[in-house]
Amino acid sequence: MGAPFPTADPPAPGEMARSVRTVRDLVRQHSTRFERAIPLIASENLLSPYAKELLISDLHSRYAEGLPGDRYYEGNEQVDQVETLCLALAKRLFRCSFADVRPTSGTVANLAVLKALTEPGDLVGTSRLADGAHISSAGFGAFGLRGVKPVYYAWDPERMTVDVPRTREILRAVRPKTCLFGLSLFLFPMPLDELRPTLEEIGARGWYDGAHVLGLIAGGQFQDPLHEGCQVLSASTHKTLPGPQHGILLGTATDPELEKKLQSGAFPGVTSNHHLNAMAALAVSLAEQLEFGRDYAARTVENARALAQALHDKGFDVLAPSLGFTRSHTIAVRVEAEGGGEAVARRLADAGVIANKNLLPGDRSPKHPGGVRLGSPEVTRVGMGPREMERIAGLFDDLLHRGRSPEEVRAAAAELKSGFTTVRYCFAAGEAAYRYYDLVGCEPA
Ligand SMILES: *Cc1c(COP(=O)(O)O)cnc(C)c1O
Repeated sequence: MGAPFPTADPPAPGEMARSVRTVRDLVRQHSTRFERAIPLIASENLLSPYAKELLISDLHSRYAEGLPGDRYYEGNEQVDQVETLCLALAKRLFRCSFADVRPTSGTVANLAVLKALTEPGDLVGTSRLADGAHISSAGFGAFGLRGVKPVYYAWDPERMTVDVPRTREILRAVRPKTCLFGLSLFLFPMPLDELRPTLEEIGARGWYDGAHVLGLIAGGQFQDPLHEGCQVLSASTHKTLPGPQHGILLGTATDPELEKKLQSGAFPGVTSNHHLNAMAALAVSLAEQLEFGRDYAARTVENARALAQALHDKGFDVLAPSLGFTRSHTIAVRVEAEGGGEAVARRLADAGVIANKNLLPGDRSPKHPGGVRLGSPEVTRVGMGPREMERIAGLFDDLLHRGRSPEEVRAAAAELKSGFTTVRYCFAAGEAAYRYYDLVGCEPA
């Protein structure tokens, strides 16, 4: 007999029960903090009550590999019906013929597309991180994992999007078979119509990463990539589309082979179980998007522009004033004069305004982002409008230009937020019994 396997130290009496209480207390503190804060992270949103309920349903405990009607497990009859409905709702919302709701996040959806469309060593067109691309496009991200090499598009700082003439030249010279469009700092649409003839000329497939703008696409407030020459759309389902943290693949009908490849990219390529609770929550979110999403998307863009204008009026360097600041849910503010992206994001958080530092086009060092990225999805979701955007700009001004203390601004932020703690644009919206930031039915014993 060799030495016994080492085991964890046995807990002292009560120690692990205390750990459980600690975790619950911390999550409560977190929730209270967000309840009192102004949440401006462009990639975050709130689930509807009915969608949230499904996340803790029994589906959370189950497996269902495969597709509806063709599973590797038993007990999936209702799951099959939920997934079939989810797929139908997705196709209806995006007016397309193909959907797969098994990727468990946007990054996983991107990996599924890379598996389906590319081989290691391929060249794939994309944007630079400094121009707003997601880490999926990076050598240290999904691209690197698949072993494909990025071919970078040129950037047009005047139009704040891909530079068409120079990118045409690059594409003609390098001829990548796949071209990815989509950003995480996504202010203006991609010039898909202008680049489409070049993609056709070189025989490249268009792939759109709509993680950030999926809800705006669904709501008719942004470009519609599947109807502007892209064959595949991958996305997260929890940014401007206010669903569960999950992923989705969508496509056009042109190529059954491609659909098969995307499906096997999703499973068994990059998932086993596909988080059935989130898939069910997504079905509810898609239904609510079909019912309420056009209004929500319009208000989201309206609020982003209102916040940009109000900050601009207070002397902040909001990018792209001549273009109306943004056509999405996101704005970018250069804050070098206020201390740089890192210091400003930290100061804002101390004052109850949650945002993130962000590299901006033209930044010299990736270690020193010159800006902050601000998004309107969550404040819009709880019912704020242009008047509240002006008040939020006032918080920025007080904190960063007028020397008010973080404590004072935090109190003003909590006061503003106190009127907006229920979720809108969904069924059972605003019911008095439902306070969004509470844990569901949990009172500690
Ligand atoms: C957020 C984002 C993703 C990744 O989404 P996750 O769901 O967080 O994995 C992919 N692409 C873009 C452009 C994004 O902004």
